[in-house]
Amino acid sequence: MFENIGMYARVAAFIFALAGEEIRLIAGGIVTRQQARWFGSTASEDRKLNIVIVGASFAGHQVARIIANNLPPRSPYRVVVVEPSSHFVFTWVLPRYCVAKGHEHKAFVPYGGYTDAAPDGAVRWIKDRVVSVTRESVELQDSKEVIPYSHLVIATGSNVKHGLPSRVHETEKSAGMKLLQEMQHDIERSKDLVVVGGGAAGVEVATDAKAKYPDKKVTLVHSRNALMHRFGEKLQVAALQGTEKLGVEVILEDRVVGRDEDSKTVHLKSGRELECDVLINCVGQKPSSDLIAQLSPTSISTTGHIKVRPTLQVEGDGFSNIYACGDVADTKTPNPNARSASRQAVVVARNILQEAQGRLPDNIYENHWGDGVIKLTLGLDRSVGYIGDDKSGLLFESREKAEELMAANCWRHMGKKPYEDDTKLP
Ligand SMILES: Cc1cc2nc3c(=O)[nH]c(=O)nc-3n(C[C@H](O)[C@H](O)[C@H](O)COP(=O)(O)OP(=O)(O)OC[C@H]3O[C@@H](n4cnc5c(N)ncnc54)[C@H](O)[C@@H]3O)c2cc1C
Repeated sequence: MFENIGMYARVAAFIFALAGEEIRLIAGGIVTRQQARWFGSTASEDRKLNIVIVGASFAGHQVARIIANNLPPRSPYRVVVVEPSSHFVFTWVLPRYCVAKGHEHKAFVPYGGYTDAAPDGAVRWIKDRVVSVTRESVELQDSKEVIPYSHLVIATGSNVKHGLPSRVHETEKSAGMKLLQEMQHDIERSKDLVVVGGGAAGVEVATDAKAKYPDKKVTLVHSRNALMHRFGEKLQVAALQGTEKLGVEVILEDRVVGRDEDSKTVHLKSGRELECDVLINCVGQKPSSDLIAQLSPTSISTTGHIKVRPTLQVEGDGFSNIYACGDVADTKTPNPNARSASRQAVVVARNILQEAQGRLPDNIYENHWGDGVIKLTLGLDRSVGYIGDDKSGLLFESREKAEELMAANCWRHMGKKPYEDDTKLP
């Protein structure tokens, strides 16, 4: 019991610290906008120093938001964001929207909620992809433009080969929605569904599919000895019980090594064969660190992440003006997630703001026990929340009322009214 009281106190302290940080950021933005109103702000073309941010998901978007709203309006610096996606993709709901119909549009949040409010000239937003990086500039894929930078932020996250249910391999909202609808259709028509990977995406898509279509055979294959193996035992047990209770067959310590589409079977390493007309792959997430790997191979860790100093500057000679944060950075975060990505973004933004004012960057990132928070759905109307690490943690069971999950909160978090999107879709 005393152990739990201690953990609740740690959770409360963590939430207060996050809230305090958010209030400081909002207050800073209000002051900057007021200054811009009184004294005007430097036009974009007159700001000769570019702070280039590559990727605008949880990490990159937060860096852009903070710097753009806190740079002095007369600053010679401007934020240049390069992001290929037309919308912010809310990854957390993707497994659910691969099964439940009619919510697809909610996973794609229009950008601009905060960056549009920054003083004039503070932000240039480019819908493109960075293909290469030198010590002075980045090159874009479509426009071929070469953009010089004073500071560079790599926030390219991670990716998977197979796309959904973990990532959307399209850059336009309409095409992304179509991919989700196709997967819903595949799952609906399947008789024997095999899901590979017992992390969050695998557990969620398998339990949602079985809850929505109880007559289907759903099998979840995982190579480790427990589902959600990166988390504490309480969550591992809850995940297994919740999954099996719905009637999903869970196969642990085995892996899919081959598939025969004609006979509609998959082969497992153990020699076992499973009937399978639809296979959903939820494994193989890798950091998207290619840009730095080309520039400085020694700055990449054995796991493929970008090595960083505590200030989140990239390790290596002469890289003090290049930062990395989020899933791509080697921060030793036990379970990289949006919360830790966002906290890292604050460190990066604060350090760059210090440098832009001629000071040395001294904000450092440290992992926190509270970052290991996760909400895992176990079917369409049940979930478990877990906060902690692989040794100790708190588990909360709850009923889920909204099939769309927390998409509306994400829209508000991005400064947008759910689900008003006036972006012109192609
Ligand atoms: C299915 C799923 C469910 C999840 N659920 C949760 C959850 O419940 N809670 C939680 O906290 N976390 C959750 N996560 C983890 C969370 O989504 C990630 O930790 C978070 O997205 C990391 O953010 P990021 O900004 O580092 O990278 P990413 O989200 O991976 O984004 C990287 C961005 O960089 C862009 N990019 C990549 N390469 C380039 C380039 N060359 N040029 C320009 N742009 C580029 C991409 O388009 C993308 O927008 C979940 C993840 C998945 C996959």
